Amino acid sequence: MNILAGKRGLIMGVANDHSIAYGIARKCAEAGASLALTYQNEMLAKRVIPLAESLGSDLTLPCDVGAEGGIDEMAATLAKSWGQVDFVVHAIAFADKSELRGPYLNTSRNNFNNAMLISCYSMTELARAMLPMMEENGGSMTTLTYLGANRITPNYNVMGVAKAALEASVRYLAVDLGKHNIRVNAISAGPVKTLAGAAISGARHVFRHSESQAPLKKNPDMDEVGRAGLYFASDLSSGVTGEVHYVDGGYHHIGVPTAETE
Ligand code: NAP
Repeated sequence: MNILAGKRGLIMGVANDHSIAYGIARKCAEAGASLALTYQNEMLAKRVIPLAESLGSDLTLPCDVGAEGGIDEMAATLAKSWGQVDFVVHAIAFADKSELRGPYLNTSRNNFNNAMLISCYSMTELARAMLPMMEENGGSMTTLTYLGANRITPNYNVMGVAKAALEASVRYLAVDLGKHNIRVNAISAGPVKTLAGAAISGARHVFRHSESQAPLKKNPDMDEVGRAGLYFASDLSSGVTGEVHYVDGGYHHIGVPTAETE
């Protein structure tokens, strides 16, 4: 199904071949898209360039979203190479690991600001920077979120607050960019074993609990999140914007789990 043939997509957040962004990128590449990937700094370029090549991409760009002007510089370079972009995947989050454990109450000012900047504000800054490359033909922007935005999950702490703000940003951006026919959506993935996921204390407990209590009795794999990413990147979702779409085996619907004996 070559539904992205002739389309160009920017993928941010590939750390390795287990990254959710890589799963989405793979599905988009299989659907015929040309991709550009970003990496946070030169040290990480060595990891990302071969992954980009495995997806048929020879365009990799540095972008530390926490650095002042980092997103604008990346966008300016991309504009010179491509001029026009059809879809963007934002799969970036960061919080100090030492505060992804224990009470949220102890969140430091510095970590709060940094987590909000990197995990939430970067999506808004990115939307503004990408607009000139997308406004003529329209397109799609997709970010990644988690249930901890709306419900308490152990140790998610400041990341839950940042994801709640990110989900609200998706709705505001959907209105701002809708007039340019640019759709803005979020995928709320169930637990996936990645570097970022492992930084949260007790991740194993959350993984097992979600797996056993989800209606589908499983957490999503990379291909399942990848296919949702493909749906949002493509015209298959042309009527959808401002949405938070759960890919979690249905876990978020559960209030009280069924007793083992029933
Ligand atoms: P991952 O492979 O560790 O990806 C996280 C990415 O964020 C990495 O590529 C990392 O780059 C990047 N990043 C962090 N700080 C950055 C900065 N200042 N500038 C640029 N990039 C930066 O983990 P992942 O689980 O796939 O995470 C992707 C997204 O999915 C995140 O938004 C995460 O919250 C979300 N999500 C994950 C799960 C899960 O269970 N894993 C569930 C729901 C949602 P470096 O490696 O270069 O630092």
